Amino acid sequence: MRTFDYARAETTGQAVSSADNSAFLAGGTNLLDLVKIDIMRPDTVVDINRLPLKTIERMPDGRLKIGALVSNTTLAHDPIVRSDYAVLSEALLSGASTQLRNKATTAGNLMQRVRCPYFRDGVSACNKRDPGSGCSAIGGFNRSVHAVLGTSDKCIASHPSDMCVAMAAIGAGIVVSGPEGERTIDFLDFHLLPGDSPEQEHALKPNELITHVILDAPIRGNRSHYLKLRDRASYQFALASSGVIVATSGGVVQDARIALGGVGTKPWRASRAEQSLRGKAPTQANFEEAARIAFEDAKAYKHNAFKIPLGQQAIVRSLTTVIA
Ligand code: SF4
Repeated sequence: MRTFDYARAETTGQAVSSADNSAFLAGGTNLLDLVKIDIMRPDTVVDINRLPLKTIERMPDGRLKIGALVSNTTLAHDPIVRSDYAVLSEALLSGASTQLRNKATTAGNLMQRVRCPYFRDGVSACNKRDPGSGCSAIGGFNRSVHAVLGTSDKCIASHPSDMCVAMAAIGAGIVVSGPEGERTIDFLDFHLLPGDSPEQEHALKPNELITHVILDAPIRGNRSHYLKLRDRASYQFALASSGVIVATSGGVVQDARIALGGVGTKPWRASRAEQSLRGKAPTQANFEEAARIAFEDAKAYKHNAFKIPLGQQAIVRSLTTVIA
């Protein structure tokens, strides 16, 4: 492992004025793994754990403001999250292990990097780790942690987060602070498609620090659910997952939100599928049609074609669960 300098920020201003090639340390569950295997090489690790970013508060307009350093465990068990955003609580509790959730933070979860083995082995051609070197996964083994939605001929790695899938369904803003001040990034604009530059994974500018996530106010009368399908029942990334939020009235769907994990290169909001459900009866046939639409643009690779029917089944089953 390479050496790096350690610094501790006492204020957000100190954190965002860090030297170039710094990395912010919160829970460290992803960063330190990647530093140890020499994939991330910060000159300075800036510990932000003393910043006052560990609270969850309901805002006057009904939105929920979550500090960047709130742990995944605290967020999952927060009474408001459990009652108004069940899809988020379920997604968080489906991820990693208890020990990891106790350390992992809200902002760290947003920033976690892909699990593609070619990215992490440090030697294979990988455009994300070494731009322009190629993508070993496209012609290689691409079964479990590779996507069918949002891929490019430069990178097909799937986004690994469960939490982000729920947030994509709920709708949120990501508040960041940087050398030029504070701004809010729409959640759906935060993670970037790989396109021609898969090394650019998010919309943060240099030295910007995530300070909060603000969830949209809950949809009145909603029911929600997160379904994660994986090779084993715990401590495993999703092959396909579905986070859904549905509100019905008078026998028809008033509002529907569908987001997908394990199948997209970013947390994937299936907007056209949602639209197909609005104003329709919540029937099996309409759920199957929404699932078909969600994967209309999917592109399968040699080993992951099964993710298309699996993802469609995840949508149908999660919708059926909330309507039952
Ligand atoms: Fe690298 Fe992406 Fe290809 Fe994996 S899929 S080898 S992360 S470029």
